[in-house]
Amino acid sequence: MSTTAPTAHALPSYLNPDHVGPWGIFLQQVDRVEPYLGNLARWVETLKRPKRILVVDVPIHLDDGTVRHFEGYRVQHNTSRGPGKGGVRFHQDVTLSEVMALSAWMSIKNAAVNVPYGGAKGGIRVDPKTLSRGELERMTRRYTSEIGIIIGPNKDIPAPDVNTNEQIMAWMMDTYSMNQGSTATGVVTGKPVDLGGSLGRREATGRGVYTVGVEAAKHIGLDISTARVAVQGFGNVGGVAGKLFAEAGARVVAVQDHGGTIYREAGLDVPSLLKHVQATGSVGGFDGAEVISNDKFWEVPCDILIPAALEQQITAANAGRIQARMVIEGANGPTTPEADDILHERNILVLPDVIANAGGVTVSYFEWVQDFSSFFWDEDEINARLVRIMKEAFSAVWLVAQDNKVSLRTATFIVACKRILHTRELRGLYP
Ligand code: GLU
Repeated sequence: MSTTAPTAHALPSYLNPDHVGPWGIFLQQVDRVEPYLGNLARWVETLKRPKRILVVDVPIHLDDGTVRHFEGYRVQHNTSRGPGKGGVRFHQDVTLSEVMALSAWMSIKNAAVNVPYGGAKGGIRVDPKTLSRGELERMTRRYTSEIGIIIGPNKDIPAPDVNTNEQIMAWMMDTYSMNQGSTATGVVTGKPVDLGGSLGRREATGRGVYTVGVEAAKHIGLDISTARVAVQGFGNVGGVAGKLFAEAGARVVAVQDHGGTIYREAGLDVPSLLKHVQATGSVGGFDGAEVISNDKFWEVPCDILIPAALEQQITAANAGRIQARMVIEGANGPTTPEADDILHERNILVLPDVIANAGGVTVSYFEWVQDFSSFFWDEDEINARLVRIMKEAFSAVWLVAQDNKVSLRTATFIVACKRILHTRELRGLYP
């Protein structure tokens, strides 16, 4: 920690760019974009400080009668363009730095696809696999109650993320509604369809990954119908994206998850693999594939690599071995800045998280709009609107990247930061 006296512009210690961690990575990304912001750069400080950080204690009774405390967070990075919006993750490695970075990436993502939201994120430091269903429900409800002072349909709208799902959203919606005395479906998105959820929401992130992948492939002359695809994480994002690529004729040659890494040069049978993962929880033990080491996954011959699990998977240690022509970031923050540079030098196109996985929050937006109007759309309409938004956002970012000769990540940050800071300027400072 710095010992120098704070100046008017000194950042609080946890915002220090030298602080290693996801937030430090976000700050580096903002620094890269600053020279492209013109006059709006005078507002850039706004992005380097989350608007609001809430750390909550989440005590629950375990099934054995003892009390256990969990640490929970909700961070609202920016609300210039609208209410905070972003998921809630349950993971044993969740830290404040991570939730801050994830909330900031939500600000960028929401602005990149131009949905009227700021950015927020939440999390609990817990391995949910160690909890019974009752414990999970009690923890979710107590957490929701604790962050209830800052969330709401017009304030900040949580959604699913790593290890959270429709059931968790149903409990969150119910807890918030009970506390305020009336049903408020619009307080969370990613709910069950029977409870104000949207058709197409579950598949939306994977569908968005596929949509931008197809668009980018056209630009680099890659034929999807003969492409080889490797996917890390075969859940909601990677599983759906893998299925859509396979339906378009691509061969999904390698899949990695917490159960190991499987490989088949001729292409895995994706529908059977999805059933296997549904039944057993991982790709481990799947017949009809060779098992390879987790490290070998990064060098399998493929054209498209889709990291769709956690942060910091593509690093300086493996980026030099990746054989793909294109990386589509289904996960948030899967590539470190050093790895980003290595991939750029090696002419491997990276479709960054802040555009590639924005399909989820885009359909979350549709869900929120449907909840407000109590009028629900059919799935074809939802998918058509999703594809249109993703294509338009991608082509705008592609042009900015060409014009400025920058990576797609920097281009997405340019588009998004300009939108955020423009609204910041229009709104002005209060008081
Ligand atoms: N957790 C997802 C994401 O990282 C979705 C967020 C949302 O729908 O609000 O984009």
